[in-house]
Amino acid sequence: MEAAATSKVDVLIIGAGPAGLMLSLWMAKLGVKTRVVDKRTGKIVSGQADGFQCRTLEIFDSFGIGHKVWHEANHMHEVSFWNPDEDGKIRRHHRGPNTQPKLSRFTEAVLHQGRVESILIDTIRASASPKHPLVEIERSVMPTSLHIDESCVDDEDAYPVEVTLRHLTEEEATPTQRLSNLQDGLYRSNLAEDDTERLLANTAGVGREEKVKAKYVVGCDGAHSWVRKTLGEEYQMKGESTDAIWGVLDIIPITDFPDIRSRCMIHSAEFGAMMIIPRENKLVRVYTQLKQVSTGTGRVDRSQITPDVILETARKILSPYTLDYHYIDWWTAYQIGQRVGDRFSKHNRVFLTGDAVHTHSPKAGQGMNVSMGDTYNLGWKLGLVCKKLLQPHVLDTYELERRQIARQLIAFDHKFSRLFSGRPAKDASDEAGSSMSEFQQAFREAQLFITGVGIHYQPSILTSDSDLKGGLQGTETPSQSQVTSLAESAAHCQPGRRFASQIVLSQADARPWELQLHLPSNGRFRVVVFGGDISQATQLATVNKLGGWLQANVLSPTKSPRISLAPGPDPRGGSGSSQWMTDEDPSIVDVLLVHSAPRDKIELLQDLHEVFHPFDKKLGWDYGKVFADDHGKAHKHYGVDPGRGAVVAVRPDGYIGLVTGLQAEDGWTRLQAWFGGLLRPSPSSS
Ligand code: FAD
Repeated sequence: MEAAATSKVDVLIIGAGPAGLMLSLWMAKLGVKTRVVDKRTGKIVSGQADGFQCRTLEIFDSFGIGHKVWHEANHMHEVSFWNPDEDGKIRRHHRGPNTQPKLSRFTEAVLHQGRVESILIDTIRASASPKHPLVEIERSVMPTSLHIDESCVDDEDAYPVEVTLRHLTEEEATPTQRLSNLQDGLYRSNLAEDDTERLLANTAGVGREEKVKAKYVVGCDGAHSWVRKTLGEEYQMKGESTDAIWGVLDIIPITDFPDIRSRCMIHSAEFGAMMIIPRENKLVRVYTQLKQVSTGTGRVDRSQITPDVILETARKILSPYTLDYHYIDWWTAYQIGQRVGDRFSKHNRVFLTGDAVHTHSPKAGQGMNVSMGDTYNLGWKLGLVCKKLLQPHVLDTYELERRQIARQLIAFDHKFSRLFSGRPAKDASDEAGSSMSEFQQAFREAQLFITGVGIHYQPSILTSDSDLKGGLQGTETPSQSQVTSLAESAAHCQPGRRFASQIVLSQADARPWELQLHLPSNGRFRVVVFGGDISQATQLATVNKLGGWLQANVLSPTKSPRISLAPGPDPRGGSGSSQWMTDEDPSIVDVLLVHSAPRDKIELLQDLHEVFHPFDKKLGWDYGKVFADDHGKAHKHYGVDPGRGAVVAVRPDGYIGLVTGLQAEDGWTRLQAWFGGLLRPSPSSS
């Protein structure tokens, strides 16, 4: 073995699945010195996760890649529920929307995980520039030891985590497949043993080893997480497995089943349940309950599981309809279990994300979405802390916010998968059976959670209490009338929820825009000013007074935080992908204005304070920060009274941090205090 070399890095990411790649994307965009290692030779080429929820698509869009996934994916608009009738024959019982309309501008879409990993990797590479180091995915590399120097975890300039990395041989890094001519996902399944221990035990003829000292290490290494196990007993996952075993086939089906291009949840009288997911490129994913391979008491005879066994079971469930195929793309099998970790970080220096801290059944299409949601939440915090723009204690909010989501996910999956795997009740007196109407209702009621748009982070330093009690950060206590007035300022904009999208018109050129496209994921906070009807002189005066106050008191470059007075992002080049935070322009707050006055009654440059159209001597005025709200529809949607207006502070991940009124007495100082609790003073002010 060669001698271990030592290097330093700000962030070391272990695992390049969906969670690791989403984190790598943030690091690449924010220009943070990062290494990403994965023990496999390559990314997934087919199969595995395929369902992208609305919120994930919104997040992709904020990175400028939503359109790619959206165009290539199959969009699932409809879901059908098939249950046995009195004669035991399956019948379509109900057909409805797969995603509740108007929750998002997207609907659930389906594209295989490998393709999405490719899109993420391409975007990570494309983010490199002379100022932003290339974040490369290093394959066939795994950690063999991790040590935290606890004496320096509070020193933000220290590199307290030392990791030994081993470079694997191609043979070690290539997973074994069951069949020589067909890809399977069994090696990643919870029915298979993980190979990490075997690889670690192999000391003969091992490859090069090196030591890396990191400021932060993030375990994105999946359900068998080595990072989690290394952190100790208190990082064990808690939960249980059920007896339910499911097989998965990705095939181009040949069938007379009428709903094969709809999502279907099918319960047969005798042979178990099945789910159909219509995919891209004529593929269909078939999930089939495999009752025959369970040996009871949670044990499974894995040798019995083959694509033919899964197909045979699917045929029985679908009978009298027929099912066959000539082309199969991928297959796997898994056992349903729900487990969640108690702790998601150690000393805010090592973090756990994704399947490394929560595992469950894949049928509600959540794992990859929630895993990327974890690192989307962590990434900007970690990146801005590394760049010394954000106070390190903000990292506490990662565990606070994402553990709550993981627990909700496990509770939802527990209920949903048991109802799905249960035998359909024959009638109301059949207590041992599952009620199919309860199953449909559970699916409908969980829509807000499943789509990801219902996420509501609890109050913290980042997310003010919606009734304002906890949001003052040490400033004055509001009077009851102030509380009522502020709570009504933007009734549908709740701190902790994502800032939803509405169509608004560019003040400068009348182009309609989804407002979310003007909040790209570039590491910046936003102050969205809802000006109301600024054709009224008093309302215009209030908005301009706020503009002047923002510039002078809160956002001045010589105070904290720093405002973006540079021309803002131009989403025209691909959904807000340009104008990333750079070392020359580390501005961290953008200001946008949405007003409900008739557009032709307002002159952008002449009527409005310059904070709403900042000037750059090379690039001129910024015409992209002011929007007219045609007929006040967006104000109505956001719950803003056009006669009063409101101010909404949005975090870099698109979640609302604080809502306040437009008038000074409504609490502009709260806004100042909120930013002051998060951001570090600019060097010029310290
Ligand atoms: P993983 O995807 O497991 O990635 C972990 C990465 O870490 C891998 O690349 C691995 O090689 C690497 N690694 C592991 N150990 C080490 C180590 N010691 N050193 C270095 N690298 C290591 N989710 C959805 O949201 N929607 C769906 O439709 C969906 N469908 C699914 C269908 C099936 C059949 C299955 C099995 C899962 C499905 N999921 C779905 C779940 C989804 O695949 C996972 O939740 C998701 O992949 C988790 O992402 P992750 O990045 O946390 O972990």
